[in-house]
Amino acid sequence: MLWQTLRRLFGGHSSASVDIPVETWRRLCAEQPELADLCDEEVERLRQLAGRFLAGRPFYAAGGMDLSDAAQMRIAALAVLPVLGLDLGWLDSIRSVVVYPDAFEVDHEEIDESGVVHEVRDLRAGEAWSHGTLVLSWADVQAGLDPEMATSVVVHEVAHFIDGANGAENGFPPLGKHHDRVRWTADFQAAFDRLAAVVDAGDEPLIDPYAATNPAEFFAVLSEYFFRLPEVLSDFDPSLYRHLARFYAQDPLARMAPRIDRKAAGNNGPSRA
Ligand SMILES: [Zn+2]
Repeated sequence: MLWQTLRRLFGGHSSASVDIPVETWRRLCAEQPELADLCDEEVERLRQLAGRFLAGRPFYAAGGMDLSDAAQMRIAALAVLPVLGLDLGWLDSIRSVVVYPDAFEVDHEEIDESGVVHEVRDLRAGEAWSHGTLVLSWADVQAGLDPEMATSVVVHEVAHFIDGANGAENGFPPLGKHHDRVRWTADFQAAFDRLAAVVDAGDEPLIDPYAATNPAEFFAVLSEYFFRLPEVLSDFDPSLYRHLARFYAQDPLARMAPRIDRKAAGNNGPSRA
């Protein structure tokens, strides 16, 4: 594979980059809901970041996955989206990427309420391993081409790596000096408690109830909404939208506004026979 050869030639140096063809890249961005509203400058910056992301770490196929250049390119595009307003150094802890064709089985331990440890086998769409491996199900990455889907497995797992950049995945990523940490903690905690109460009451929350699992999953799921369905996140809690807009240095709500307005108008309009 061409890119594997380039990586061998250039090694994993941060200055190495895969030159992604511009037209291919524009088509990819146009059909991916999170990327379709980026302006030309952002599309170009994303291409540069994705080229460096691809050159800087090996991709491995698992479970019989046929890992094409196009698949690697789409994964890279979504992986660097969260750092479009930051820099690629945030993703240094991702040292390799493993791609399965579909959801994969994971064995892990769960402790029940009486403290007994159970071996559990789960199906996963993605995982962020603490030693630096991003693991993905390609079928779940592809499912993200549907604009109605709330989930974005690549953004979710990358958000876990970003969250863990200060040593702990706890929903509290390293914040800049300009960010009010006390406000962040208070606003996230209040919204988490509110979501947990809705889920506990058996009611339907506005966002995926998986976010109520723990603060780390809360941050990862909110990041998915931030980039895919920012209007839903803003409805759920406008203060969390503003925190994430400042943290990621992006404003998806503003750039997607025309499309969101069209969608809203379409939903209220007369139906066709
Ligand atoms: Zn997660």
